Amino acid sequence: MSLTDRIAKGLEAGWKVTDASTLTDNQTHEADVVIIGTGAGGGTTAEILARAGLSVILVEEGRLYYQKDFKMDELTAYASLYQEGMSRVTKDGAIAILQGRCVGGSTTVNWTSSFRTPEPTLSYWADNFGLENLRPEAMKPWFDGREERHTVSPWLTDPNVNNDILRQGCDKLGYSWNVIPRNVKGCWNLGYCGVGCPTNAKQGALTTTIPGALDNEARLFHGLRADKLVMKQDRIDHLVASAMSADTVTPSGVKVHLKARHFVVAASAIGSPGLLLRSDIPDPHHRIGKRSFIHPVNATVARMPEKVDPFYGAPQSIYSDEFNFREGVDGPAGYKLEVPPLHPAMSSGVVPGHGEEQRDNLKQLPWMQSVIALLRDGFHPDSPGGTVSLRDDGSPVLDYPVTDYLWDGLRRAFHTMAEIQFAAGAEQVRLMHLDSPWFNSWSEARAAIDELPMELHRVRLFTAHQMGGCGMGENPQQSVVNGFGEHHHVSNLSIHDASIFPTSIGANPQLSVYALAARNSTRLAGKLKG
Ligand SMILES: Cc1cc2nc3c(=O)[nH]c(=O)nc-3n(C[C@H](O)[C@H](O)[C@H](O)COP(=O)(O)OP(=O)(O)OC[C@H]3O[C@@H](n4cnc5c(N)ncnc54)[C@H](O)[C@@H]3O)c2cc1C
Repeated sequence: MSLTDRIAKGLEAGWKVTDASTLTDNQTHEADVVIIGTGAGGGTTAEILARAGLSVILVEEGRLYYQKDFKMDELTAYASLYQEGMSRVTKDGAIAILQGRCVGGSTTVNWTSSFRTPEPTLSYWADNFGLENLRPEAMKPWFDGREERHTVSPWLTDPNVNNDILRQGCDKLGYSWNVIPRNVKGCWNLGYCGVGCPTNAKQGALTTTIPGALDNEARLFHGLRADKLVMKQDRIDHLVASAMSADTVTPSGVKVHLKARHFVVAASAIGSPGLLLRSDIPDPHHRIGKRSFIHPVNATVARMPEKVDPFYGAPQSIYSDEFNFREGVDGPAGYKLEVPPLHPAMSSGVVPGHGEEQRDNLKQLPWMQSVIALLRDGFHPDSPGGTVSLRDDGSPVLDYPVTDYLWDGLRRAFHTMAEIQFAAGAEQVRLMHLDSPWFNSWSEARAAIDELPMELHRVRLFTAHQMGGCGMGENPQQSVVNGFGEHHHVSNLSIHDASIFPTSIGANPQLSVYALAARNSTRLAGKLKG
């Protein structure tokens, strides 16, 4: 068990951390490298560059929250730790977008599942985007290294009932399943990863790479939003950033200018293309913001005869890849099956019904179980992804059309999930679809699923995996950065986050971001030192 608080200790010891809401005057600072975003990509980059002896400034729009702030309270956590107070959605409002906005980024609130980039995905990238150096054998040492850094290993404690039902259903039907590797150390199995780990067991950026960077003299500004990268001739000269006021969302009016030899953008998919668009970064082939992916997720909910208590225990510990690459990497949409935690506030957003009906459904929460399907998007011409553009106020927004190709995958996923839940003993199953009743048997569900309209706003969709928008590739006509995250047209700009993936991953992305950022930062450190 670990209650050591590296952040509290570091702050006491004099880490260079500035809460931008306390700034009263405009100011300018300078470093070798300015890194925008402190999540999976930004944290990794900061630690590696700072350890190499480079001076580093980290810029984070969200605030520094740590153990003292993590009280297992959904409402405060969603408002403070998530983008747009947990109400970020796609442009048409049809898909909920869960994304972190705090030091540590989405790794501070994620559910700790830690998968390597699947081999078929890496091979597809090599074959289709010229990314030969990212083939599985070349990436292996980077995954090994990051698994060690983030203490990743399969979760050997018994799964909670929520996850065990996925295992039981798969066993009954002869579908493959496996145990999820997690990035935790001394985990108490509480189940509240999504609202900030109260015991510091989660080995996300907040407890690993961010302290590693700050121990090595990196400077962190939190509550500071990167507005615009300003070019001078063909290089970036400085970043203009706005301090947020104490409410964390309204600019205070104080501007901070940050100058550097090199700039690393790691503001994540949606955030990074947004910053590049605001900055008018050269984009002769109009690639910025294109091919944005989300692993569209649909879900079913089961009523089980026994208590499930789906809010307790490691949120994700069992998965099934039975349908992920079954039809080949670029055939009909494949999907990974997992289980989400069901906490009351989050569930009230998705549990169907209004008024008394919804109240009655929510009363049943302790007996409910859910399965989710994460669709692999981006591997087929009929799955080209979405587009990030700017709203009038300069904030980024994702337009994500759900194509017939994806609807077909979502319908098949509904079938699979309902079948698994009934096989595991569900009394009733309901799709997260506005027109779905509670089904009493698999045969009843099977017949009805084929008739339900597969439409936006009727099927409840969400994503916690934003990817792409600044895709990598060897051909500048098709991509924004090369295979090392280096911008094709601006020599002192790199991108080190999930926005560089040229397709979705086909697995939860954090370990892919950590590994690529480690590889690309190691090269960047060599270049800047050499
Ligand atoms: C609820 C939830 C559960 C998840 N569960 C898992 C899981 O179990 N396993 C897994 O692999 N993945 C999971 N993920 C996804 C995973 O955490 C992300 O894919 C990963 O963190 C992405 O890394 P990143 O560096 O691209 O962005 P992030 O980690 O999101 O970091 C980006 C940072 O940039 C900051 N930023 C954005 N714009 C600006 C700006 N203009 N100025 C300054 N800062 C800015 C953001 O505030 C944020 O802190 C989950 C995500 C969520 C939200």
